[in-house]
Amino acid sequence: MADVIVVGLGPAGIIAARVLGRAGLSVVAIQAEAAPPGRAPLAAPAPTLRSTSDDEALPQAAPPAGLDTVGGSKLLAAAQAYRLDDWSFEMRSATERRYGPLPPDSDVVDWPISAAELAPWYDIVEDAVDAAPRPATAWTDRMSLAAAGLGWEPFAAPAAASPDAAPLLVGSDVEVVRATVTAILRGSTGEVTGVEYVDGAGDLRTRACGAVVVAASVVPSIRLLLLSGLSADGRVGRWFLSHNAFVVHGDFAGIDLRRRDAGPASAVAVSEFEGDRFDHSGLGFLGGSLLQAAMTGPWSAQRLDAAAEGLSRRTTGGADAATWVRAHHRSIGTVWAQPDQLPRADNVVDLDPVHRDPSGRPVARITFSLAGDDRRRWEFLATRAAEWLRNAGARTTWRPPLQAQPLGTHLYGGVRMGQDPVESAVDSFGRFHGVPGLVVVGSSTFPSTGGRGPVETIEALSWRAASRLADDLR
Ligand SMILES: Cc1cc2nc3c(=O)[nH]c(=O)nc-3n(C[C@H](O)[C@H](O)[C@H](O)COP(=O)(O)OP(=O)(O)OC[C@H]3O[C@@H](n4cnc5c(N)ncnc54)[C@H](O)[C@@H]3O)c2cc1C
Repeated sequence: MADVIVVGLGPAGIIAARVLGRAGLSVVAIQAEAAPPGRAPLAAPAPTLRSTSDDEALPQAAPPAGLDTVGGSKLLAAAQAYRLDDWSFEMRSATERRYGPLPPDSDVVDWPISAAELAPWYDIVEDAVDAAPRPATAWTDRMSLAAAGLGWEPFAAPAAASPDAAPLLVGSDVEVVRATVTAILRGSTGEVTGVEYVDGAGDLRTRACGAVVVAASVVPSIRLLLLSGLSADGRVGRWFLSHNAFVVHGDFAGIDLRRRDAGPASAVAVSEFEGDRFDHSGLGFLGGSLLQAAMTGPWSAQRLDAAAEGLSRRTTGGADAATWVRAHHRSIGTVWAQPDQLPRADNVVDLDPVHRDPSGRPVARITFSLAGDDRRRWEFLATRAAEWLRNAGARTTWRPPLQAQPLGTHLYGGVRMGQDPVESAVDSFGRFHGVPGLVVVGSSTFPSTGGRGPVETIEALSWRAASRLADDLR
């Protein structure tokens, strides 16, 4: 019998497996095999989507292609490595201190861990992934100068040396099994006893263990818990969140910005419009976002088409937008935001009562919509992003319309952490309330999104949770 089974080897699972393995525990890590390749990066099998509980949930016409492999979706990532700002951890109490009580029906909560408590774990992760800013480029220099000209304080984005977290497993003596976990098994008193999984040959197997760490990313983790009958009285799947990242483009009138000389890990950022760093009185929203001007590498056909959205015929001189972008893409600069989203009880992941995966198990169903505050936050941030671009020399700016992104690249929530079991599913160490031996790691446990990328916080929390589990098991 294994001491621990880790489900999923993205960055969260890799770190958990490393820490537990190095603590001398016997660790089996089960990672889904990509067959056929091209499964949704954050949510295989592809979930169905709907906007509200009155709508019919529909399968996606073209689920985003991605990876199911050791390394997880971080392999697709820019590897930007940010600590969340302090405000994100105390969103409710800091808001009430400054602006007065939140409405009684607000789902905004503080995290059960402070920025100061997490700081030593961020230190460990940054050391392990070798996080540091990438060298400046002509584009980031131009945008730094423009930000400083507006009285802002630009800084170079930190990034991990590599998006591949797999080398962190080296020396940890972890047995890696290529299979898909389909259920968490429990004993007579509710304690975890093992997992059920489908192996590469399609056979259903079980494996016994003393503890399970669920690290399958947001939607698959929620689905696995629900398929295992672990709903925490309806709290698993609630308060699902997405970053709804957006961009604003600017045309630099024939100047080759050389954005394609490096990837998006090279970026300059400003934090003036993040969290509560500006007065929100009368604005109708909380939070904000880091704004970033990133390098992008060469643009794919899809990126070129996306950059044409929102472009007016006045800017293109009457030409078709997609054709104009292809002719001018070298001089298009972009600012990008990852805005806070507030938790809402009606944004939910549950099991679809109709649609099933090829093995006959229900797929996940996402019910997700944006609220008025999401639109007001977007308007506010997009205006600042446009101002930044214009101060850098853009003759005109444009932006695609805001769209709900239930399957964006940064997903959160659904297994919320908290001190009170009535308000949450796990504690700050990822320990599932009332189920001995069950730990959940990854951004499904985040009570809020923050206004920056999640991966370093995922890694720091996973390191802390696994260290605690190792202590609990020894
Ligand atoms: C294109 C893109 C760009 C991004 N850029 C950034 C960035 O710059 N900065 C940042 O902070 N974040 C970024 N992110 C987000 C970041 O990559 C994810 O938040 C992070 O990888 C999540 O880590 P995880 O280990 O929780 O999940 P994942 O990385 O998704 O890994 C989960 C693993 O579990 C496996 N799995 C799922 N279900 C099962 C099962 N039932 N049985 C066995 N295995 C299973 C999956 O195959 C996968 O390998 C980006 C994401 C994408 C897609």
